[in-house]
Amino acid sequence: MDKRVMKAAVLENFHQPLQIREMPIPVPGPNEVLVQVMASGLCLTDTHIQDGIIASVRLPYIPGHEMAGVVVQIGENPVNASLVPGQHVVCGIDITCGRCTLCTSGRPNLCLERVRIGFERNGSHAEYALVPSENLFPIADHIPFDQACIIPDAVACMYHAIFTQGQVAQGSKVLIHGVGALGLQGVQLAKLAGATVYAAARTHAKLDQALRFGADQVIPTREKDLVASLDEMTQGEMCDVAFDLVGNADSLDLLLRCIRPGGKIVALAYAEDAFSVPCQELVIKEKEILGLRGSTPDELRASIRLVEEGKILPYVSSHFRLEEINQALDFLRAAKGIGRSVIMMGS
Ligand SMILES: [Zn+2]
Ligand SMILES: [Zn+2]
Repeated sequence: MDKRVMKAAVLENFHQPLQIREMPIPVPGPNEVLVQVMASGLCLTDTHIQDGIIASVRLPYIPGHEMAGVVVQIGENPVNASLVPGQHVVCGIDITCGRCTLCTSGRPNLCLERVRIGFERNGSHAEYALVPSENLFPIADHIPFDQACIIPDAVACMYHAIFTQGQVAQGSKVLIHGVGALGLQGVQLAKLAGATVYAAARTHAKLDQALRFGADQVIPTREKDLVASLDEMTQGEMCDVAFDLVGNADSLDLLLRCIRPGGKIVALAYAEDAFSVPCQELVIKEKEILGLRGSTPDELRASIRLVEEGKILPYVSSHFRLEEINQALDFLRAAKGIGRSVIMMGS
């Protein structure tokens, strides 16, 4: 293949398979960096994008927002002047304005002007990608690319959930409701914080993996009542924080009954349009419900460090080639994976 040409998975029409196309390798402009993508993570959001429910997406374009690769070429005047060709990097998803009230108050993950790699501009389901220099974070060469690529989304989001939104600390009692690609990172991070971790899921394969990552007790929700099980396991105290990675209409109703008075729920998933919540549980018991969106650059840096130090294993359970991207998306829709699914370039 001509060296100036790359393969990319392009979404040309909503509700249609992605097309593998040959296109020119992009050339970096000022502050842009050309990255050779080595691994590109797949997120359920990729299926939402394909289904046309992310309103800001314009076609045709290259999806993919979990990128790890190698720096190839750096444009003029990079904001991040520390990058060098050959360096291994992961890519932060949000390009933020740095000026709005949320950026300047320490919450750039909620930037009012943000543009996202793999959403509003081309992403990582391609052999090369062009990103602003400040979105690239170096990572040690010994971390495999498949593990590295899921850090900005699956690990850093969970870091934001556990430490910032959830304020999980030594001795916290934590429920992780849904232990798939994100929840399994949540189990590891909550254990690292010193929490007692209860993991709930429908399938035993996921619960077995949660146990391997240190979950103290598991609850198979097809067979056991979640509230009654936690009541017994916590001697009636219930949990301090519950993380919802299921996102059904009745998820929050269920989790409100799993937490103590003054406890909190962090909602990371939404599978339906609305949640229903019993007012009595919320108001009289001062329970809190918090949302979650992405992570900050500091949280991403901290997540990378934990992976480099071997304290967190980004859990990838399925690998696909770029040409298999549509099978991979079907695999995600069918919820067949236990951990993250990753596209490996050049394989
Ligand atoms: Zn995602
Ligand atoms: Zn901003």
